[in-house]
Order: sequence, then C-alpha cells, then structure tokens
Amino acid sequence: MTDANCIFCRIATGDIPCAKIYEDDNVLAFLDLAPVHPGHTLVIPKDHYKDMLEVPAELGTAVFAALQKVAGAVMKATSAQGFNVMQNNGLAAGQTMFHIHWHIIPRFDDDGLEMWAQGKYPDAAAMQEMAASVASYL
Ligand code: AMP
Ligand code: ZN
Repeated sequence: MTDANCIFCRIATGDIPCAKIYEDDNVLAFLDLAPVHPGHTLVIPKDHYKDMLEVPAELGTAVFAALQKVAGAVMKATSAQGFNVMQNNGLAAGQTMFHIHWHIIPRFDDDGLEMWAQGKYPDAAAMQEMAASVASYL
C-alpha cells in the first residue's frame, strides 16, 4: 500500500532520493535530512501507515529488528555514547510526516539535549484511577 502523495512512500519506492542506510522486504532506514545530531536516522515500514494506531502489530518484529541493527551501526559510526528511539503520533505530539517512522538519535555525554519535564499525580489514588481508566479501553 503506497500513497502517491506521501513523501516517505515515494522515498520507499525510490521515486525520491534518500541517504539510504538499510532496507529489507518490509522496512527502510535512511538519514533524517535535518538531524538532531549527524547520524540521526529514520526507520519506516515500506507500506503506508499513518501512525502507531494504524500499523499492524505483525510489522513490529521487522521494525524492531531493523531498529536494533541500525542503532548499533549508528552508535559505531558516530561514536555515540547512547541513543534515543523516538516515535511521534499526531500533530500534538510533534508528528510532521504522516507515514509512521521511528527516529534513532545518537546521543553524547553532555550534549545538552533536554527531554521534557515530568510532573506527578496528586496522590496514589489518582494514579490508580488513571491506570483503571486506560485499562478500561483495552
Ligand atoms: P516527525 O516530526 O516525527 O514527523 O519527524 C519527521 C522527520 O522527517 C523530521 O525529523 C524531518 O527532518 C524528516 N524529514 C522530512 N522530509 C524528509 C526527507 N525527504 N528525507 C529525510 N528526512 C526527512
Ligand atoms: Zn507513506
């Protein structure tokens, strides 16, 4: 399934060029053109799915295997001390390309990047209530 209007689909079909790192039958990995750090890589399924709620769970094995393989290579190529795997869903979460993708972002000691600030629940009951609410939709 390919969407002719989707840039990542067109990268997957070779219609639009990319700095390719890895591909197999199901997934493709290529450099993000606006890297957080050089080596910042995107892993996509070749088929078009918008986000985590659309992508079939069966594809997870292929994606996970590619993430492991490519992240190890990114670490070696950049001499990174760590990496983040990020995946944004929806505009509110910062998704700008609506073909699901996972970011592999190499990280370095004291690179100054800060993740979001975390808060807390008012009390343990509120936390349990939230857990029960989420679980009720499974
Ligand atoms: P997100 O904000 O999670 O949707 O991330 C989309 C990412 O795709 C951004 O980091 C962009 O820099 C990257 N991007 C957009 N177009 C291209 C492209 N043609 N080739 C490589 N990376 C791209
Ligand atoms: Zn697509």
